[in-house]
Amino acid sequence: MTEPTLPRIRPEIAALPPYRQGKQAGPDAFKLSSNENPFEPLPSVLEALQTTTPINRYPDASAAALRARLGEKYGVEPDAVHVAAGSVSILHQLVLGTASVGDEVVYAWRSFEAYPSLPLVAGATGVQVPLTSGARHDLDAMADAVTDRTRVVIVCTPNNPTGPVVSSAEFAAFVARVPQDVLIILDEAYAEFVTAPDAVDGLGERVFERHPNVVVLRTFSKAYGLAGLRVGYAIGHPRVLDAARTTGIPLSVTSAAERAAIASLDAEAELRERISVIVERRTRLIGGLRAQGWQVPDSQANFVWLPAGERTDEVAAAFDAADLIVRPFSGDGIRISVGEEESIDRVLAVAKSLL
Ligand SMILES: *Cc1c(COP(=O)(O)O)cnc(C)c1O
Repeated sequence: MTEPTLPRIRPEIAALPPYRQGKQAGPDAFKLSSNENPFEPLPSVLEALQTTTPINRYPDASAAALRARLGEKYGVEPDAVHVAAGSVSILHQLVLGTASVGDEVVYAWRSFEAYPSLPLVAGATGVQVPLTSGARHDLDAMADAVTDRTRVVIVCTPNNPTGPVVSSAEFAAFVARVPQDVLIILDEAYAEFVTAPDAVDGLGERVFERHPNVVVLRTFSKAYGLAGLRVGYAIGHPRVLDAARTTGIPLSVTSAAERAAIASLDAEAELRERISVIVERRTRLIGGLRAQGWQVPDSQANFVWLPAGERTDEVAAAFDAADLIVRPFSGDGIRISVGEEESIDRVLAVAKSLL
């Protein structure tokens, strides 16, 4: 069989492995590979989804109701809020709106798997700054990596997949060093799980007000349990967010997603309870792993990092054999989401057998 001639693909795109979703969990397996919320949706959220949505009509392109609600929550004008189909979409929108050929996008590594493709798709160049030996952002080195060509710096706190946060003081010192015309994206996808008192909180501290080059990203996918509906948001200077509104694909946020997000904000107290259960499980999981001798960084998110290094594939295979779907990063380590109560014991049992 001869290969058909295919349309020419940009070489930097063709060189990337296409996104393939992790394995789907079998009936007895725990899916701990995507940092999802293990709880069933709240009844009030399901009810909101059932209220008749005119699905023959387009949604409200500006998600005005959700933006107004978030604006109230954080004490900002609706224009200082941008909503999209997941905060990954907003990352793409902001990078497309600020960086192009010849420009640089600085981010920590290892960090969120979606980051490397952001500069690439925009035609820009990614600059990876290694984490410290404690699996934390090295903000001094990241500030040092900023050049005349830098358009964006991404800071992920808590860092996916390793877990540690950036502190308020560290972030303040970092922002002071980065030129004001360079966009800083503070990706706080796991903010609701943070319990460390010194952690940066971009919204609580209103960093975006003092520094118009800082945009804070949050999502309904993790703590709020709406990963399947796709909705996330950004808070920042309205003119910076306009760049994301311009580059974004219009009408991506469905009415169902918008409604479920509003219902979730209305159910804040119930969701907080669930979050504290996950935080308790996280504490138990980290404590158990450390007691076994694993060097687990202090995760402030809903996942933990096992720095298995060269043994990563072997360790991942052992979890897999025990029907635990985890997320291995070959040669580096394994990210395990904090899931159902029974999954914690199973993870600890497998981890113990490996030492
Ligand atoms: C999960 C995650 C996101 C958001 O995902 P969406 O589902 O697109 O909102 C953003 N950043 C990081 C670091 C994440 O882990």
